[in-house]
Amino acid sequence: DCVMDKEYFFNVIEKIAELVEEKRDYLTELDAAIGDADHGFNLSIGFREVSKKMPEWKDKDIKGFFKSVGMTLLSKVGGASGPLYGSFFMKFGEPADGKEEVTFEELFQMFKQGVEAVEFRGKASVGEKTMVDVLRPAVDEFEKAMKENLAPKEIMEAFIDTARKGAESTIDMIAKKGRAMRLGERSIGHLDPGAASSTMILEVFADCFPC
Ligand code: ADP
Ligand code: MG
Ligand code: MG
Repeated sequence: DCVMDKEYFFNVIEKIAELVEEKRDYLTELDAAIGDADHGFNLSIGFREVSKKMPEWKDKDIKGFFKSVGMTLLSKVGGASGPLYGSFFMKFGEPADGKEEVTFEELFQMFKQGVEAVEFRGKASVGEKTMVDVLRPAVDEFEKAMKENLAPKEIMEAFIDTARKGAESTIDMIAKKGRAMRLGERSIGHLDPGAASSTMILEVFADCFPC
């Protein structure tokens, strides 16, 4: 059976923290083009703090773990992305209340709730050149592929494929939310930094996927 245990989720967060360091300057460069050149820096501050505190969270259930991840990002990350990723991870853990492992269906519920939290907090919809252009289509594809009874591994591939296409789709968009909005048409031609970071984050979930 396909189950995701605490070790999987701990591993995912550790890997995200490593990747954020690796891609910090790249993400900041993307933000320099249409924002205020701090996206990689913001995430690095947040995930360094998460890495530092993670050993204290070893005994928590999956919900408690992600609540701590989310609250740490919320309190440490400046800018728009802190509250957005903070909300994502706080809600992401909720379907795993009291659990030490989750089923694939529960993993889907986690992504679904996480994405809804980002939409609720930021009020962005698809087409506005934000991380929602990655997260919303990816989670919809997950649901569609599940209904088609694809194998978990294939579903994760479809999920990531859709996330990447979503990120790419932001290049041609005019920003309607966040700082990049001020640029109007001048935001066209640039990849949205939050779309890039959210794709990276989803890729880690898929790379570590045990099924
Ligand atoms: P700031 O813009 O405050 O400096 P960051 O640079 O860390 O914050 O994050 C910018 C990213 O946040 C954008 O690229 C975009 O993807 C995302 N973002 C900004 N506003 C919103 C929103 N209202 N809804 C969803 N995502 C948003
Ligand atoms: Mg910024
Ligand atoms: Mg900023």
